[in-house]
Amino acid sequence: MDLDNKFDLGFFPTPLHKLNNLSEKFTDYQIFIKRDDQTGLASGGNKTRKLEYLIQKALDENCDTVITAGAQQSNHCRQTVAASAVAGMECHLLLGGEEPKEYNGNLLLSHVLGAKLHFTGENRKGEDIEDLKNELESENKKVAVIPYGGSNLLGSFGYINAIKELKDQLLEQNLNIDYIFFASSSGATQAGIMIGLDFYDLKAKLIPINIDKAEAEGFLEQIILDLIHESEQFFHLNKEYRINDIPLERNFDKAGYGNMTGEEKEAIKTLAQTEGILLDPVYTGRAFYGMLDYLKKKKIKPKSNVLFWHTGGLPANFNYGKELF
Ligand SMILES: *Cc1c(COP(=O)(O)O)cnc(C)c1O
Repeated sequence: MDLDNKFDLGFFPTPLHKLNNLSEKFTDYQIFIKRDDQTGLASGGNKTRKLEYLIQKALDENCDTVITAGAQQSNHCRQTVAASAVAGMECHLLLGGEEPKEYNGNLLLSHVLGAKLHFTGENRKGEDIEDLKNELESENKKVAVIPYGGSNLLGSFGYINAIKELKDQLLEQNLNIDYIFFASSSGATQAGIMIGLDFYDLKAKLIPINIDKAEAEGFLEQIILDLIHESEQFFHLNKEYRINDIPLERNFDKAGYGNMTGEEKEAIKTLAQTEGILLDPVYTGRAFYGMLDYLKKKKIKPKSNVLFWHTGGLPANFNYGKELF
């Protein structure tokens, strides 16, 4: 297990560029964007970086079958099926809820990409993984289980590596970033970014926007802290982290997971209509709403450089047709 042992799934580095029109609207700030919506794997997203490590591990263990779980509109599931296709493995998805009459968005794409779909009703977070694994193993399949959201130590490697990529781009563009905004949900993106900043000695203040209100207060912070401790051990780092060192902005999650409000809709339309860049209703729309709120209310220091890390999610828009109107 090391940072170089990964399976090639995307086009890296993803672009880093300025949002010129948006920066003109907020004259106190220079606004930049990191385009992980453009990773290239079946319409892109942040799970591509995690899957480069998770799929390599499955291949190293001679697996021929992958199982993962998520929501029906899970970007993680869609990219996992695509990654399994590239690696020549069969992919099973455990999806919460009942099978819909018509497939759209990520669910439709997961089907097109060849997923074996299992609708698991009330069990929304992969509770049935062990049963399915046993069943597939009884058919002599060699099964790799990829955790919910791809969030374990190996998944976080994707974003440790992404910070090296960002640092190189900043040097090349002679640029300094003061704040980084992004959507945080299952933990490994944020853990990877935090470890990466230490590891590669890049200084920027993180403002991770919490997406899923359903988690008890402190729960996601604990997951992130555990991942950080695991990788500190792994890489023999010795910076002390406590729960209060984990930043997480919980002011924008009131509507709950997957419920798009007028605020997200306005944020999505703002970026679309100033820069021609598409966000998504669940994650990046909410994170961008949070960032715009910070900029409007000048909650961060003027004259600073701000980065929005776009983590993908485009296909989910097609599941919110009426609400986006
Ligand atoms: C999964 C996902 C996130 C959150 O990443 P985590 O590592 O789960 O915190 C953000 N944006 C999009 C579009 C995602 O699919």
